[in-house]
Amino acid sequence: MIFEILTLFPEMYEGFLKTSIIAKAIKNGIIRINIHNLRDFAKDRHRTVDDKSFGPGPGMVLKAEPIYKALKKIIPERISANKLLPKKTSGIIYLSPQGRVFNQKTAKELSKYRQLIFICGHYEGVDERIFRFIDEEISIGDYVLTGGELPSMVVVDAVSRLVKGVVKKEESVECDSFYNGLLDYPHYTRPRIWRGGKVPEVLLSGNHKKIDEWRKKKALDVTEKKRPDILESKKKEIRRIS
Ligand code: SAM
Repeated sequence: MIFEILTLFPEMYEGFLKTSIIAKAIKNGIIRINIHNLRDFAKDRHRTVDDKSFGPGPGMVLKAEPIYKALKKIIPERISANKLLPKKTSGIIYLSPQGRVFNQKTAKELSKYRQLIFICGHYEGVDERIFRFIDEEISIGDYVLTGGELPSMVVVDAVSRLVKGVVKKEESVECDSFYNGLLDYPHYTRPRIWRGGKVPEVLLSGNHKKIDEWRKKKALDVTEKKRPDILESKKKEIRRIS
């Protein structure tokens, strides 16, 4: 899977690309993350990518042309002079507080693409006219951040975990919160007793069937306690299927 990120701040990705599971997935050739500096697509010698917003009031806006040029270079097959050509295996996403709010379901959907292109806005955002070259706007929550860089890392991380081979034991993704509509069950590690707190006996029993039952029950309990809203939707889903 290939991720292409269009940004004014490539340096923000240095730690992200070099750390933990994402770094390993890149090293093993399972995912690729290409960072494109939007300034490389500006035509003047000052490499200008932004300008004042038309109308009164403060605020800078990212110009449409450098974004267009970057898209044209990355996916020429989808970009004509003034419109976006039908979707094939790529998705063009503008990270925006106004977009569809990102969740595990969206991550699953996005993990089916071969290539995802993320446009990171900054300042007041992007020139409205670039929207005809965007498939979708995605938000990581109802709050406003300085730029699309952190949101792009959030989305790339969550989607990458669902790409086969990125997380070593598939199981650990499937047991994660939200994967099957429930939160994850509690985890413990050594020592068996820590400051008076004991590891539940069943986990030490070696009885896989019992451990499995305990985990299922705990996942339900945890979900009911922490996120009753998602339990309700899971119940509705089960009722709909049966
Ligand atoms: N004026 C814009 C508005 O109110 O909708 C906000 C611009 S924000 C300061 C700058 C950039 O950060 C946006 O263009 C977007 O790319 C990114 N951004 C901010 N909050 C975000 C969020 N919750 N989810 C995704 N991207 C976000």
